Amino acid sequence: MTVERKDIPRQFAESFGRSPDVTTFAPGRVNLLGEHIDLHGGHVLPMALPFGICLAAASIRGGEDRIKSAQFEDIARHSCGAPKASHWSDYVAGALEAARAQGWLKGAAAIYCDSAIPVGAGLSSSAATIIATLKAFAPKGLPVTELAKLAQTVENQYIGVPCGIMDQMAIAAPAPGEILLLNCRSLDFTPLPLPQGWEVAVVHSGQHRELADGRYHQRVEETEAARQALKIQYLTDLAGRDPLPKLDSATLTRRVRHIASEQSRVLLAVDAIETASTESFGALMQQGHMSMARDFEASTPEIDQLVADAVTVGAYGARITGAGFGGCIVALLAKGKKHEWWQQLGKHHPSASLLY
Ligand code: ADP
Ligand code: MG
Repeated sequence: MTVERKDIPRQFAESFGRSPDVTTFAPGRVNLLGEHIDLHGGHVLPMALPFGICLAAASIRGGEDRIKSAQFEDIARHSCGAPKASHWSDYVAGALEAARAQGWLKGAAAIYCDSAIPVGAGLSSSAATIIATLKAFAPKGLPVTELAKLAQTVENQYIGVPCGIMDQMAIAAPAPGEILLLNCRSLDFTPLPLPQGWEVAVVHSGQHRELADGRYHQRVEETEAARQALKIQYLTDLAGRDPLPKLDSATLTRRVRHIASEQSRVLLAVDAIETASTESFGALMQQGHMSMARDFEASTPEIDQLVADAVTVGAYGARITGAGFGGCIVALLAKGKKHEWWQQLGKHHPSASLLY
């Protein structure tokens, strides 16, 4: 599904009886490798998608924001200064609060948005929603790292999701069709062109998950406990260490093993991109999926099957993408093979859909 950008001002006018002051766009993102390591100072390989969220905004009078989304029924009203309301509109409202705190927005705003990013599927509809809202009010020329850090603050503090910075950076600094090699410690980033002959596919499993649910928070708490027990600033510094330091808890030992091995895989994957080695990159995706499933326990039996079948019918590699516990898989294919591949895979997975 795509959203027609030209329709957004008209849809804004239908909701609010006036024209918008500004329209913005923010893409979804798919993470090729480097899962759950942004919080631990790791390197990650996300890629902005060609579809995303379109948004129109205007400053309005009064003390109440009005928020309409094509994906939700009601028009939300948010009193300026109010905390989150555990409502779908929280992500927009949180970004408006941040824009006001920066002095970019004086008073209230009306927002209309329409998105092609499925919610809770691992393609970061949350960060895209926040960034599209912030962009409507941010000063021209604001560095992407500043935009990304502010968006992360909204998700961490206003919403209460202890996420890292990967999604916000991938969405604020999009390089369409290129993989973003991002150092989550320094925030240095380098776009790497997708090698000729490679094609990326994204398939929604049909299983949904809510990030604000307990398991994501539990993983953050577990890895923080491991970090403190090991008295180390960044768990990704354990990449390549053999043997890994022992922890009393077998669960925490597995979580640390995921983070250390995932960081090593990303560094090897950069070599695979530079030498255009589809086989190596695919194998690293496979190993990454096993690690997410066994050590991080963030996959599901349905997604494990989808990943296995994706490879059986011709992908070089496939893995769960995003925070996990449902949502999408990403696969690496030979260019030009996507249609044929999906015809095979879709037959065995009637609830799944090809998104990209
Ligand atoms: P994801 O993996 O897609 O980022 P999250 O659970 O982190 O999932 O965030 C989903 C939340 O983001 C939604 O519940 C909603 O509050 C907000 N959101 C996403 N898309 C939209 C949209 N089109 N309009 C309004 N809010 C949205
Ligand atoms: Mg999210």
